[in-house]
Amino acid sequence: MEKMKLSEATTRRLPLYYRCLSELSKKGEDKVSSAILEDLLKIDAATIRRDFSYFGQMGRRGYGYDVKTLLMLFNDALKQDTTANVALIGVGNLGHALLNFKFHQIGNARISAAFDVNQEIVGTVQSKVPVYDISDIQEQIKEQDITVAILTVPASAAQKMADMLVKAGVHGIMNFTTELIDVPSRVIVQNVDLSVELQALIYSINHQNQADLF
Ligand code: ATP
Repeated sequence: MEKMKLSEATTRRLPLYYRCLSELSKKGEDKVSSAILEDLLKIDAATIRRDFSYFGQMGRRGYGYDVKTLLMLFNDALKQDTTANVALIGVGNLGHALLNFKFHQIGNARISAAFDVNQEIVGTVQSKVPVYDISDIQEQIKEQDITVAILTVPASAAQKMADMLVKAGVHGIMNFTTELIDVPSRVIVQNVDLSVELQALIYSINHQNQADLF
């Protein structure tokens, strides 16, 4: 299939659509409407219709969308049938938790290599993933065809590690550190700051409660 340029927001919704459509298909559903998907996914039906239209899929009034066709198109776009190898840098508390997270069960990725400076864990296998010395990063990333890395090192080491990852040729970094890393524009960074997310949630709840008082 020709490579299409989807917006970042649409790209983020694709795995959700894929998972939901797989479930529907398993239940024997052949067709689905955007209204049903809105209900299941809590995504606006108009947004769903627009996303699907990028794939040339126009739902038919009174029929909806063909589940198998959508699955095939999204599978192609997501390459769900090939598993992407991911590297994890920094096997501390958070790194360990992510090593145990079953990325492969809900998506098309698995952590195939971990890296650390701590010689007590270098050379060991943690949660079925080998831990390499940070100096092996170039070699392993090339050998294992790794394009994405998860960064769970202390903030002070984040930029240095990001530079190494860029040099090794990764295309994307999921940054769990509080440091805003600087990378060339060809590399995509996704920042995941758990304490910011939690603060935002607490803030919303507090403000909602205040609004309830009036
Ligand atoms: P966290 O919960 O953030 O993982 P932690 O207290 O378990 O915190 P950190 O001090 O944040 O541990 O370090 C995380 C991991 O990163 C540790 O295993 C540490 O050895 C490793 N680490 C530290 N510096 C580097 C570095 N420059 N490169 C790779 N790994 C590093």
